[in-house]
Amino acid sequence: DPTVAIVGRPNVGKSTIFNRIAGERISIVEDTPGVTRDRIYAHGEWLGHNFNLIDTGGIEVSDQPFIQQITAQAEVAIDEADVIIFMVNGRQGITDADERVAQLLYKADKPVVVAVNKIDNFESRADVYDFYALGFGDPYPISGAHGLGLGDLLDEVIKNFPEVPDPAPDDSIRFSLIGRPNVGKSSLVNAILGDQRVIVSEVAGTTRDAIDTKFVHDGQEFTIVDTAGIRKRGKVYEKTEKYSVMRAMKAIDDSNVVLVVLNAEEGIREQDKRVAGYAHEAGKGIIIVVNKWDTLKKDNYTQQQFEAQIRMEFKYLDYAPIIFVSAKTKQRLQQLPALIERVNDNHEKRISSSTLNEVILDAVAMTPTPTIKTRKLRIYYATQVAVAPPTIVIFVNDPELLHFSYKRYLENQIRKNFDFTGTPIHIIARSR
Ligand code: GDP
Repeated sequence: DPTVAIVGRPNVGKSTIFNRIAGERISIVEDTPGVTRDRIYAHGEWLGHNFNLIDTGGIEVSDQPFIQQITAQAEVAIDEADVIIFMVNGRQGITDADERVAQLLYKADKPVVVAVNKIDNFESRADVYDFYALGFGDPYPISGAHGLGLGDLLDEVIKNFPEVPDPAPDDSIRFSLIGRPNVGKSSLVNAILGDQRVIVSEVAGTTRDAIDTKFVHDGQEFTIVDTAGIRKRGKVYEKTEKYSVMRAMKAIDDSNVVLVVLNAEEGIREQDKRVAGYAHEAGKGIIIVVNKWDTLKKDNYTQQQFEAQIRMEFKYLDYAPIIFVSAKTKQRLQQLPALIERVNDNHEKRISSSTLNEVILDAVAMTPTPTIKTRKLRIYYATQVAVAPPTIVIFVNDPELLHFSYKRYLENQIRKNFDFTGTPIHIIARSR
């Protein structure tokens, strides 16, 4: 999907617009203590066009002076976006900082749509014309506070989407490596490719910077998503956490299987959990890869202890297999392609309704359905309605009676009967 980035100096209202377009309150407008202003990346949709949305204002290059901040944010937009929304404050006219942003965007050769925010009423509409001077064509008046003008703005944005034909579907398994800086993603990519026959070295994605690498292993084609993003390093903002999280979220969207890479040397950090959480939410196949396994002095319990710690810290990822590797010594790396393939197969697995209902029936026979406030849960029928991830609808007398614990029990029974290693299973209760 194309990517839209919102740029503009602080306080012009970028997060408010981001939230409105994303349709949910995913970034917090005011900084609330204890709440991470984490979400700078979301999905948007307008008139049937899906796109990714980035609020570059969330990328804080701390310790840098103001002008470097907005420069970095404009650069993120230029690097990541297909269309840029340049937001200004309609109550203040063009400021030096706006001009600075404009200068950077002229060089970018990307379509720019000017959104003039804080135009809350008809009288102030005249102020909008001043912004023609920025040189990006018609400015669009909007009101973040009242949600006005967004339709016209988005019409213009989608008009500027690049014409990219859908890539021919292939049987390639797409996987990405995500994780904090320095866990060894880039070393792993090199080590994996080192042994493989790379068939097409580089395939450009929609944006200039997204580059995928394909290789074949045992007759199966694999695509490593966004190898350029994994390898590149240098610009100030690339070292910020929010940027790397955003980049990871984009890669996750684009993958069948996600390798969550941890660093054995440093153990598990908060950022690891956040990144893994996005992969889980996205419903992808997941493998936990513990890299730098060569750096630990090991006894008989080291691996077991590490595994126990992962299971505790990443409770929601209990379906994900864990593999202990070293990009340096290549330990166990040769097992990785087969594991990715297995997880991908499970992620796309389809169970026939008859087999599924046998399993559910047996499960109910072993542990009867609960009775909640004198009402007994009745299960009539189950059917798998989707793959990637496997999604099962269970028809019941009342969905509210299918509590978490019984749902969990059913999921475990399903997992006992079929190999769903590495994939979440979504179970939805419906009343018949
Ligand atoms: P990235 O930021 O996640 O892509 O991490 P890099 O691949 O750049 O690796 C960060 C550092 O860790 C580099 O100095 C690597 O040489 C080192 N490194 C990566 N993998 C391993 C490993 O398996 N063992 C050891 N000892 N060092 C590693």
